[in-house]
Amino acid sequence: MEPSEILDHVRQLIADHSAGDPDKWFYANRFVFARLQLDERKTKSGVKKRLFAAKAACYRCSQPFEVKKGVNLHRLDQSRGYYDGNCVLMHPHCHEEHHAENAARESATDTEVIPPANGSKGTLVKKSKVYDDAPFTYWWDIVPNFTNKLDQYEAVEFFCKDTQLRCRVSIEELKPFLTEDRQTSRGDGNWGIKVNNGHEDELAFEPAPGGKTKWEYLPVTWT
Ligand SMILES: [Zn+2]
Repeated sequence: MEPSEILDHVRQLIADHSAGDPDKWFYANRFVFARLQLDERKTKSGVKKRLFAAKAACYRCSQPFEVKKGVNLHRLDQSRGYYDGNCVLMHPHCHEEHHAENAARESATDTEVIPPANGSKGTLVKKSKVYDDAPFTYWWDIVPNFTNKLDQYEAVEFFCKDTQLRCRVSIEELKPFLTEDRQTSRGDGNWGIKVNNGHEDELAFEPAPGGKTKWEYLPVTWT
């Protein structure tokens, strides 16, 4: 059985169980969701424990950890799971730097264009992997020189590689967030767009360093 079939199956079981009762649906859905997440967290905490026991240092800066709290677990091969041999530990700021370095390269390669059709312009699809143990779950960077090309498109779709869910934002909606005063210090002054933890139904537009701008949120629908 494929993962999507497993999901369909579970959805059907929950629908049968709740038989149209929204309270029952909510409880059963939340129960299954929370316990599956817990299974993943348990796997991760086991790997983390063993790395600490082996006196692992930070993968990036090679310094030992003074406190265990807040240390990030990172998968070396992001297409593989959490298990010993594919995981290392990093300080939270080292982890962030590590991903920031890769972000420009990833944002350049992880795009796809849906060509124009029926008189409408094309759509740009930007893809993000899932980020674990970070204050955000997904992260797309937009490079400044790309803004010259924005008008070739009708919309940008922000795509999550793990769930295959995407949200569509028109160029008109996107443009007001891509201003000079909101450019970050990454790459050529990339704009950072994230899904922050606790804000799953919104795209979060990263503020510029220095505190002159704030996080801005745009409500979106994932399909
Ligand atoms: Zn470090």
